[in-house]
Amino acid sequence: MSGDHKHEEGFIPNYLLKELAEKGNENAEKTLAVTKEIEEKRTEVKKNLTTERNIMETSGGTTKRFVYDSENTGEFQRKLARQEGGPSSTDDVVNISYDYCGKTLEYFKQKLNRNSIDGVGMDVISNVHFRTNYNNAIWVGDQLALGDGDGRAFINLGRSIDVVAHEIAHGVTQFVNELEYERQSGALNEHFSDVIGSAVQQFVKGQTAETADWLIGDEIVGPDWPGKALRSMKAPGTAYNGDRQVAHFNDFDPNLPLADDNGGVHYYSGIPNKAFYLTAMKIGTDKAAFLWYTAWHNRGIIHPRATFKEALKAILESAETLVNRGELPRETISFVKNAFEEVGVSTLVPV
Ligand SMILES: [Zn+2]
Repeated sequence: MSGDHKHEEGFIPNYLLKELAEKGNENAEKTLAVTKEIEEKRTEVKKNLTTERNIMETSGGTTKRFVYDSENTGEFQRKLARQEGGPSSTDDVVNISYDYCGKTLEYFKQKLNRNSIDGVGMDVISNVHFRTNYNNAIWVGDQLALGDGDGRAFINLGRSIDVVAHEIAHGVTQFVNELEYERQSGALNEHFSDVIGSAVQQFVKGQTAETADWLIGDEIVGPDWPGKALRSMKAPGTAYNGDRQVAHFNDFDPNLPLADDNGGVHYYSGIPNKAFYLTAMKIGTDKAAFLWYTAWHNRGIIHPRATFKEALKAILESAETLVNRGELPRETISFVKNAFEEVGVSTLVPV
């Protein structure tokens, strides 16, 4: 073990891949090994990104989409299969990826007033058919890699809108506040990706907070998966048999070993996830997402090691600003307080 647990993981968390590998799924074991390689690649990419970004800032900020076919290899940008404004492909996975990247960008622009992943029009690059039986989808620092799944535990990771939006949102976090991927800050990092994943899914499917199922990863679970999804924002811990997500701060263990899901980033994201769901039920998903997104820019409070309590503080501050501007209903502040109280997080209680 390298001792460095701060890498963001793929859509399928490493702890789940480990569990599947222990049950004899050799594709999960292979996926885990590849995911670790990719995490290292991302660290390199991030180092070089600042200079790249400066170039893009002067290039006019018009986002272009590029979909590459990895042709079941581990290569990035191997064969260009579709690009912005170009003809569609005969491969529907390519077209779906192109469309879903587009829908995510559209949501950012229309509902959050954000210009692409970095805020200044960064191109969106996806690589489909990544490797063989690859049970994951992952943000690599400047592009996406999407596996087809092994057809047993997982299927079609590139064909699911909440997967694509969740992974692209990890890119946004990279530029907005760089929440460290362990313990509470890591759970907030995961949480934000679930918020965006759900909001974009509802946008694409024409759903509301009331009509949505609030499941994460429901479109990618295969016949061997023991449940309906990977996570439930509405009822954390109920997505599948063995779901370890919690829905209340009483169940938060600050001493969980970092080797266990980076200190529980996917277990404890259930706490703010449920608070978001409760808020969205009061003011609507898009307004709640805009509030969270606005709060996430308050870097004085949401620093890279931010806690749930600090997140709540930032959300309340942003709520006040947006209420005063007439962009959110006056009751938003009490809705947010109540939602977080229901999951055991309050500004009054020390964390
Ligand atoms: Zn994630």
